[in-house]
Order: sequence, then C-alpha cells, then structure tokens
Amino acid sequence: MQVSVDKDRCCGAGQCVMAAPDVFDQSEDDGLVLLRPGAVEQAARTDLELAAGLCPAGAITVREDPRTGSGDADGTVDA
Ligand code: SF4
Repeated sequence: MQVSVDKDRCCGAGQCVMAAPDVFDQSEDDGLVLLRPGAVEQAARTDLELAAGLCPAGAITVREDPRTGSGDADGTVDA
C-alpha cells in the first residue's frame, strides 16, 4: 500500500492515530499528522483505510502500490 498525508489539510484531530497508532503520529510542535518511518508496509490495509475514512479533513490517501498492485509493498511518505 501507499499512504500520503496532506499536512495542509490536517487539522490535528488525531483520528488517524487512534485508528492506526503504529503508522500515524502527531507532531509535538503543531499537532499535525506524521507518518512513522517504515510503518506503512507493516500495517494492515484495513487499519490504513479506517484511518483515511475517519480523518475529518480528508488528509489521508491510501492506494495500491502501482508496482505490485498489492498491499505488501513499500509505502511512500508525502508529508
Ligand atoms: S485524522 Fe486527519 S486531521 Fe486528524 S491528525 Fe490525522 S490526518 Fe490530521
């Protein structure tokens, strides 16, 4: 899977951290979303999709990895 987060849209609600704490974190400085390095490829697809669905700002995008078409490839960070 690939996960992108748009910090310009993030409002720091923290729903993503509640849904997938191994993948998402929040900055101690401004409360905006952070992706934990190397975490996306270890995450369950359902957790990533839940986080994206719960985000009130629509700041999280989850998609298949175009290189494999599966959910077990490296993730990307567009933060
Ligand atoms: S749920 Fe959305 S708005 Fe809230 S911290 Fe995560 S990315 Fe930001």
